[in-house]
Amino acid sequence: MKYYFCLLIMEKKIIITIDGWSSCGKSTLAKQLAKELGYVYVDSGAMYRAITLYFLRNNVDLAEKKEVKKALKNINLEFIFSSKSNNSEIYLNDENVEYLIRDMLVAEKVSDVAAIKEVREFAVAQQQKMGTKKGIVMDGRDIGTVVFPKAELKIFMTADNAIRVQRRFKELYEKNPNITIEEVKNNLEMRDYIDSHREVSPLRKAKDALELDNTNLTPKEQLSKALALAIAKTKK
Ligand code: C5P
Repeated sequence: MKYYFCLLIMEKKIIITIDGWSSCGKSTLAKQLAKELGYVYVDSGAMYRAITLYFLRNNVDLAEKKEVKKALKNINLEFIFSSKSNNSEIYLNDENVEYLIRDMLVAEKVSDVAAIKEVREFAVAQQQKMGTKKGIVMDGRDIGTVVFPKAELKIFMTADNAIRVQRRFKELYEKNPNITIEEVKNNLEMRDYIDSHREVSPLRKAKDALELDNTNLTPKEQLSKALALAIAKTKK
C-alpha cells in the first residue's frame, strides 16, 4: 500500500507519538507509518534496552545514584539505518545491539532501569533533540505525555492481554524455542505494572491521545486508520 497521492497533498511535517502497553504492536505501526509518510522512526524502548544491556554488562548497581550517573556518561547511543533490515538499528558505543537487546535477560531488567530518574533524563533529552525538525514517529510509554507533549498526533494503543502475550511469544519463540508462554506472560505483566506505577513519567494515556485498540485489527487495517488520522493532522 503506497500513499503517494497523500504525500503530495501533505502540507506540514508533524510529530506522531505512539504510546501504550508492552507488545501492543506499537513498533509495527510506528515503522509502517514512518515509511508511508517518509518520516523518521524512533524506537525509544530500544534506548532503554541498550542502557540496560550496558548496566548488566558492567554490573551497575541500580540503587547507587553515583554509579548510575557515571555509567550514563560512558554510554553513547545512535540509530543507524540498515539496508539489510530496511530499518534503523541501535548502536551502543559503536556496537550494533539491535538484536541483543531483545533478549529476555534485558527484558527482565529494563523496567527497573527505565524507572530511574537520571536514566529518563538522559534518554528524554536525546529523544527531544531527534524531534526538533518534526517529521518523526516515536513509540514508547511517555512520548505523548513527557517527550513531545505538544505533538500534533498522539495515539495510545491497547490490545487484549491474551493477544499481546501470544504475539510476543511467537516473536521470541522464533529466536529461542526454550521460552515458555508463562515466562512471556509474567514479563509483560511485570513490565506493565512497573511502567504504569513508577514515580517518574509513568505510562499514561495523554488527555489528547486517541485510543487505538488493535485486538481485532490486522496490521494493514491499523495502518490505514492511523494514516488517515495523520493525514488529517497535516492538513490542519
Ligand atoms: O518498547 P519496549 O517494550 O521495547 O520497551 C522496553 C521497556 O522500556 C518498557 O517496558 C519500559 O520499561 C521502557 N520504556 C520506557 N519509556 C519509553 C519506552 C520504553 O520506560 N518511552
